[in-house]
Amino acid sequence: MAHPHTPSRLWIKNPLAVFTANQLDAGGGLVVSGGKIAELVPAGHQPSTHWDSTFDASAHVLMPGLINTHHHFYQTLTRAWGPVANAPLFPWLQNLYPVWARLSPRSLELAVEVALAELLLSGCTTAADHHYLFPAGMEDAIDIEAGVVRRMGMRATLTRGSMTLGEDDGGLPPRTTVQSPEVILADSERLIRAYHETGDGAVIQIALAPCSPFSVTKEIMAESAAMAERFDVRLHTHLAETIDEEDFCQSMFGLRTVDYLESVGWLGNRTWLGHGIHFNDEEIARLGAAGTAVAHCPTSNMRLASGTARVLELEAAGVPVGLGVDGSASNDASNMILEARQALYLQRLRYGADVPVERALGWATRGSAAVLGRSDIGQLAPGLQADLALFKPDELRFSGSHDPVAALLLCGADRADRVMVGGQWRVVDGQIPGLDVAGLIAEHSAAARKLVAG
Ligand SMILES: [Zn+2]
Repeated sequence: MAHPHTPSRLWIKNPLAVFTANQLDAGGGLVVSGGKIAELVPAGHQPSTHWDSTFDASAHVLMPGLINTHHHFYQTLTRAWGPVANAPLFPWLQNLYPVWARLSPRSLELAVEVALAELLLSGCTTAADHHYLFPAGMEDAIDIEAGVVRRMGMRATLTRGSMTLGEDDGGLPPRTTVQSPEVILADSERLIRAYHETGDGAVIQIALAPCSPFSVTKEIMAESAAMAERFDVRLHTHLAETIDEEDFCQSMFGLRTVDYLESVGWLGNRTWLGHGIHFNDEEIARLGAAGTAVAHCPTSNMRLASGTARVLELEAAGVPVGLGVDGSASNDASNMILEARQALYLQRLRYGADVPVERALGWATRGSAAVLGRSDIGQLAPGLQADLALFKPDELRFSGSHDPVAALLLCGADRADRVMVGGQWRVVDGQIPGLDVAGLIAEHSAAARKLVAG
């Protein structure tokens, strides 16, 4: 894929509007140098240091690259599949598991490419993926994902997911999709050693991610926590997504979800949870005190009628909250800017119309960075990575709008015009340079039909 050259000091000049995700003034834009934000330029000013070239942003809304904290890339192969189009979580999963068990290396590669391309075009620069399917022949699933992330020039937290509790043992997934703890832990260690980067500008990070209470044993949860501690990587799982799951925890473990989390050594600031909907007041306080983070997935939660996460109360308690589009079999899009709109509207239904637009954009940027344990992305500030999304509100849907930042969510922006990752333009004029989208759709669609046909 082509990677357009970025000059050494670029002034992204005088944007139409800016959302910095903090209190800083970048009304005059910002200077990019060495892959980082060198300087924010206050409104009406010029950069205080020299610049080599400018990008005229006078038609663009500038903001930090959006960060997606929960996804299952492989699920782009089973979007809008008739048999589960109108089903809640447990039957949805039970119908999909046998289809997913047929995943092949090439179909996964295409699925990851589709998911990342969609995310990138929606203004997303960093994505977390939760991959927990390792049927025979899929041993290299995370390696395949890492290859595509690098080709696309994005950042990712790739989680080595796992399932150990098969149907025969009282779990939900079929036997063929579960693995032994020994295999999971050995592969987790291999992946951390091979791919996990630390520090500012990390391109790929690895986290450990047993799938959910109803698909894993307590042993793999505890052992994953111990390994995460040993290698200083993050922990991820689904928790408190549905009442079915809460009932499962009660009957299988005799515990509510947060008690279960604590019992396996996961109630800490290394952990982020997918969904985090069904918590009571006391559980929210405990999560906040522990610094455990939540990936809010509003579209998926509405699609499967799972419930509404108590986002403002979680944040008030100290829980870092970010956004996730969730897997494409329950959304069924991978669009981060539209997810921010969904989050705004769902949380307004819960808390009232005074939930600000900027707060939803904050979840999609600064909040999501905190959820992934990163301080080098998610805001516009000097020294942070030059991960930027620029939207151009000039389409029909924006005509007659007044506040450009509010218009992105209220008028339903769905596509960025320009996206930069680490100082490199990855989206130019609404396109990914070098990506044959039509060819990708053709090949991915064929793989999706084949997967479902069996
Ligand atoms: Zn999920």
